[in-house]
Amino acid sequence: MYLKSIEIKGFKSFADKVEVEFTKGITAIVGPNGSGKSNICDAIRWVLGEQSAKTLRGSKMEDVIFSGTENRRPLNFAEVSLIIDNSDNILPIEYNEVKITRRLYRSGESEYLINNTACRLKDIYELLMDTGIGVDGYSIIGQGKVEEILSSKPEDRRLVFEEATGITKFKNRKIEAERK
Ligand code: ATP
Ligand code: MG
Repeated sequence: MYLKSIEIKGFKSFADKVEVEFTKGITAIVGPNGSGKSNICDAIRWVLGEQSAKTLRGSKMEDVIFSGTENRRPLNFAEVSLIIDNSDNILPIEYNEVKITRRLYRSGESEYLINNTACRLKDIYELLMDTGIGVDGYSIIGQGKVEEILSSKPEDRRLVFEEATGITKFKNRKIEAERK
């Protein structure tokens, strides 16, 4: 399983549709200050279900929608898709390629899709749980995260290991079952 590509349209500085392809192994994104490198990381976090505007370096969720420039009008919605190679069937879904999409309109309406079919955010969380890819997984190590893992309380650090060993899913199901 690996990230094959990301499609971005109307998200932050990416007004036109942009597709960034990744290959197995290491990909480095380079560019001048302000050219959109961090915006690509924000887009990945966002499509995985990030709900905190602050984590995405904004003050409200609408800030992720292209807000226009001197000679370009703002857009009405942002859309990001991640295309994940699943030929090793690590994701519990019978597709060799999985496309996860999130869309947000200025009206506040939002949509999530798996392989172009509308779904709940919960379905995306469940699909990615225990794979390390989810928004709370360890696949995105932002600035300061290494320090956080090293210096956090043992209980917090335990969550990282639970995700890595695949127990998070069962723990969540237990919590849900107890609630019913
Ligand atoms: P650095 O090397 O300084 O870290 P970077 O390549 O990571 O730079 P980003 O932070 O990804 O740069 O991009 C910042 C740019 O994105 C800024 O010019 C900012 O105006 C633009 N930007 C952020 N949100 C929006 C938005 N909603 N609409 C239009 N442009 C946006
Ligand atoms: Mg940056």
